[in-house]
Amino acid sequence: MTFNQYLVHLALQIKNEFYLDIYNIRFADKKKDIENEDERFVWFDIDINNEYLEIDISVFPVVKRAFKDKDYKSIYELLLHEFCHYLYSPLEDFIEDKLSKVEKEIWDKIIEKQTQHIRNILLGFKNINYKNYEKKEIKKV
Ligand SMILES: [Zn+2]
Repeated sequence: MTFNQYLVHLALQIKNEFYLDIYNIRFADKKKDIENEDERFVWFDIDINNEYLEIDISVFPVVKRAFKDKDYKSIYELLLHEFCHYLYSPLEDFIEDKLSKVEKEIWDKIIEKQTQHIRNILLGFKNINYKNYEKKEIKKV
């Protein structure tokens, strides 16, 4: 499987899990890596258009290097994070031009934190071992 095939396959799988069948996904290859505030490379960037039902995913070169290193876990977890941004996108659409520059910076940080929190919850659910879960006794309070 080539890098592009892998990415499309993975994105369609996550899109399906998020019940986003009616959305169209487009990928754009970024030529140069960029660093975020933590001086870590940005892997993906997502732009969600809820009016035209389009999701644009920018892919930075670091992702291709991770694919070559078979670091599928990181690619999956980071792409899953991007899709979690969908959950806040209607709110973002609503608030977009109502905030000052300072408020927008605070807003973006809150959204980023909550998005990552949701991603962590989803990863937790994926790791639940249902067989053991059923056997656990529920403590009476
Ligand atoms: Zn994010």
